Amino acid sequence: MQTKMLIGAAQEAGTETEEQVLNPRTGEVIVKMPEADTDQVNRAVAAARAAFPGWSRTTPAERSAKLLAIADAVEARLEDFAQLEALNCGKPINEVRTEEIPAVADCFRFFAGAVRNMSGPLAGEYMEGHTSMIRRDAIGVVASIAPWNYPLMMMGWKLAPALAGGNTVVMKPSEQTPLTALLMAEVMAGILPEGVVNVIVGQGSSVGNTLINHPDVDMVSITGDVATGRKVLQAASKSVKRTHLELGGKAPVIVFDDADLNSTVEGLKAFGYYNAGQDCTAACRIYAGPKIYDNLVADLSSAVSSIVYDNADDTLNEIPPLISRRQRDRVASFVQRASEQKHLEITTGGSLHDGPGFYYRPTVVAGAQQEDEIVQREVFGPVVSITRFDDADKAVAWANDSQYGLASSIWTSNIGRALDVSARLQYGCTWVNTHFMLVNEMPHGGLKQSGYGKDMSMYALEDYTVARHVMIAH
Ligand code: NAD
Repeated sequence: MQTKMLIGAAQEAGTETEEQVLNPRTGEVIVKMPEADTDQVNRAVAAARAAFPGWSRTTPAERSAKLLAIADAVEARLEDFAQLEALNCGKPINEVRTEEIPAVADCFRFFAGAVRNMSGPLAGEYMEGHTSMIRRDAIGVVASIAPWNYPLMMMGWKLAPALAGGNTVVMKPSEQTPLTALLMAEVMAGILPEGVVNVIVGQGSSVGNTLINHPDVDMVSITGDVATGRKVLQAASKSVKRTHLELGGKAPVIVFDDADLNSTVEGLKAFGYYNAGQDCTAACRIYAGPKIYDNLVADLSSAVSSIVYDNADDTLNEIPPLISRRQRDRVASFVQRASEQKHLEITTGGSLHDGPGFYYRPTVVAGAQQEDEIVQREVFGPVVSITRFDDADKAVAWANDSQYGLASSIWTSNIGRALDVSARLQYGCTWVNTHFMLVNEMPHGGLKQSGYGKDMSMYALEDYTVARHVMIAH
C-alpha cells in the first residue's frame, strides 16, 4: 500500500500528527498516516511553481499523450485501485470496478481529446490596422482539494482539465480517504515531468488551510461543504486567487401523477441511495403529485427495504456504509429529530445497524413538509424525504426553495411539462425520467450555494484556462 506523498520527484512520508485511515465496513484502522508539515506544503507548491513554465509551454498534443497514458495506467491497475477504493470507502467492489474507475479513465481520455479541440472567436481586424486574436492559456499553480465520497473520481475531475489546460497542481485528498490518491500519485510520477502533480495529505484545518492561503497558489479548486467553500473564498480574497467551488446539494425530484410508477420507484431506489446517499446530487427530496403519492410512498419504501448493504459477501452489496462514525451519527440525528415530529412517518429504515461498521439502514421519511429540516438540510446519507403536492407551480416553487442549486429531476410522461418545468428549475442539472447520470462531455456544477465552476466537459477546460487578447498593430 502506497502511503507516501509526492512532492516534486520525491515520495516522502508526512512528519506531523498521524491520521487514522479507517475501514468503514468494520471501523478498524487500515493505516496510520502522518500529515504534511508546513515545509512539505511549501515544497509541494514550489515544485508545482518550478514545473509550470515547462508544462504550460508543452503543446496540446504532448499534454494529451500524457493524459492518455494516465488513463491507460489507471486501467492497467484497475484492480489495485478498485480494491483500495472499496477498502477505504466501504464501497461495493463491483460498482468501483465497473462504474467508478472506468469513469475516471474516461475523464482523462475526454480531456486528452478536448484540449486538442478548443475553439474560440476568429482572429481578425476589429480595429483598422490592428489584428486581434484570442489565446487560452494556463492559469498557474492550482490547489485541488477533494472530499471523501468519490476520492479517485474527484481526482480525475480536478486533475484532468487542470493538466490539459497546462496548469500544475498540488492535490490534497480528504484526510479520510487518501489511499487511491497516493497510488495515483505513484502512477503519475512515472508519466508526468517532475512537479507537474504533487499530492500531499492532511487535515483541512491544517494542510488544507495552509494550501488555500499560500501566496504562490493561483487558483483553488475545492469540492466539499458550503462552510469550507466560504473559507476558501475568504482565503482567496487576500491575494485574489481564482476559485472553483463544487459544494453541497439537496436535489429536488418532482414526480408528477402521470409518471410511470415502476420505473420511478426503480430509479429513486438507485439514485437516492447510491453510495449510501453520500452524493451531492442524490435524489433525496421528493415532491409527489396527489394521485401518485400513496403508491410511491408504499412502493418506494418496499423497494428501499430490500436494498442489500451489509452482506459479508461484498459482491452482493448495493450500497456502502457511511464513511465514518461521525457521519453515521449525523445521519442518525437527522432521522431522530424527524421521528419526533408527529406529521412525519419513517416508513422504512430509521435505525442503526447492529454490529460493526458505520452502517445506517436505508430510510424513507414520508409526509414531509417544505419547512422541515429533513427537506431543507443536506443529510448526505441514505435518507429520502417525500412531500405531497397538489399544485405543479407549488412543486416547482418548493423545489427552487433551497440554498442549494446543483441537481434536480422531473418524472412525467408529458414531454411538454418536462420542458416547461426544466426551464424553471434553478439547478445546474435537470434530468427527466432519470437522475444522477453523468457523462464526461457534459458539465457538472451548481448554482446558488452549491458553488460555481464546472467539472467535466469543455466548460471545465475553460474554467482551468484564461482567455487572453493579443493585438498586433500593422
Ligand atoms: P469538507 O468540506 O469537510 O472537506 C472537503 C475537503 O476540504 C477535504 O479534503 C478537507 O480536508 C478540506 N478542508 C476542510 N476544511 C478546510 C479548510 N479550512 N481549508 C482547506 N481545506 C479544507 O467536506 P467533506 O465532508 O469531505 O465532503 C462532504 C461535502 O462535500 C458535502 O457537503 C457534499 O455535498 C460536498 N460534495 C460536493 C460535491 C459537488 O460536486 N458539488 C461532490 C462531492 C461532495
